[in-house]
Amino acid sequence: MSDPPAGAWRPDRDSAPWWERTGREEFAVQRCDSCGTARLPARAFCPACRTEGWHWEAAEPAGTVESWIVNRRAFAPGFAVPSVVVMVRPDAVPDCLLPGSWHAAREPVGGERVRGVFVPVRDGPTLVGWEPVVR
Ligand SMILES: [Zn+2]
Repeated sequence: MSDPPAGAWRPDRDSAPWWERTGREEFAVQRCDSCGTARLPARAFCPACRTEGWHWEAAEPAGTVESWIVNRRAFAPGFAVPSVVVMVRPDAVPDCLLPGSWHAAREPVGGERVRGVFVPVRDGPTLVGWEPVVR
């Protein structure tokens, strides 16, 4: 097997299990074995107690819109514009903000409830996007 071309997406040591789970359409968080703090993105140490023991735990892909932007310029060929990138505060890890694509015909509203949608990317990972709970 050859290496992917330069610039191609590849998971790192900490995030690989996250991407494996999103590929199965599973939303998961790391949970500290010592203090129980949930965390995202994936990392080796707990930000609360600085210990290394942790496990993955399935969580509901739900949260609240914190902010968003409307891209009116394509970042790369094939990107649709305008497109909305939303920052969501997930219920499972309230001190985290997760960016994702927006999946509705209207712009988000600050504070509205959203649920995750899984967005496979050709030759890449399955991303987590967001759609409104109330359309
Ligand atoms: Zn901890």
